[in-house]
Amino acid sequence: MKDFKIKFRGVRGSYPVVSPKFSEYGGNTSCVEINIDGHLIILDAGTGIISLGDELTRQSHFDDTVKKPKTVTILLSHLHQDHIQGLNFFAPFNNPDFKISVFGLTTPDSTLKDDLKELVWGKSFPVNYSDLSAQIRTESALENKKIIIKDKEEFAVQTDETPSDDDIVITCMKSNSHPQNGVIVYRIACGGKSVVYATDKESYVGSDKRMALFARKADVLIHDSQYTSEDYLSLTSSKQGFGHSTYEMAVETAQVSQVRQLVFYHYAPNYDDNKLNKIEHTCSVKYPNTLCSKEGLEICL
Ligand SMILES: [Zn+2]
Ligand SMILES: [Zn+2]
Repeated sequence: MKDFKIKFRGVRGSYPVVSPKFSEYGGNTSCVEINIDGHLIILDAGTGIISLGDELTRQSHFDDTVKKPKTVTILLSHLHQDHIQGLNFFAPFNNPDFKISVFGLTTPDSTLKDDLKELVWGKSFPVNYSDLSAQIRTESALENKKIIIKDKEEFAVQTDETPSDDDIVITCMKSNSHPQNGVIVYRIACGGKSVVYATDKESYVGSDKRMALFARKADVLIHDSQYTSEDYLSLTSSKQGFGHSTYEMAVETAQVSQVRQLVFYHYAPNYDDNKLNKIEHTCSVKYPNTLCSKEGLEICL
């Protein structure tokens, strides 16, 4: 039986927040750590990734006698600020011991590497991409291929070959329900266990059926839950078309896909601990085994 651990590092959408009113759920932006038998997969690189990077380099320092390169796979849902703003402070990029695979959404007229060079390490930061000392591979995440992580390989590969039973297999679904270029939803599976990561997507009333099929019978569904229905449908400041879901949309998708556990994620930056506690209580009545993600929360499958 493989160890399959999920740890939330940042659960906030849009921008980071700091205030005692947000201390329970945390104020860092999107980042989830997945550890499968020592293989590290990181979903998105909001500010939550920074503390994880610091921990990794501390471990690397203590492991110096082994001189084993560290391998990391980063999966970016898309390139909006709150999903990449921690990348330039992710310490392993400046450590030659690390081998880092980065997959993400690209548009036909660009590559992931060029996008990251411009958005993360370009004019807005004192270090250039070419100054990074880690070994880095970047690749567009494609819906019709699988990303596979093998036990002895140092980089994840994207292929249409059939994986073996021991491999970690990542499948991608492109959703167009997020402006401007859409978003990638990831399903990570290994040893009969699976987690689906669906952030920054606007589902539909009655559930997103394509998404529900993609997430079918997953152990955990991490679903965008940026707004309450009241805020989403507000007559004076409606959030329709912003590319985010309500808690009810996440519940409906969980019901149709029959996932074992639903986890809310990517909260509006003005939703404080009090509000999120009330939402969790209300929604867990509608769908059992539902919870609000918070920084530091760990789920073991
Ligand atoms: Zn976002
Ligand atoms: Zn976004």
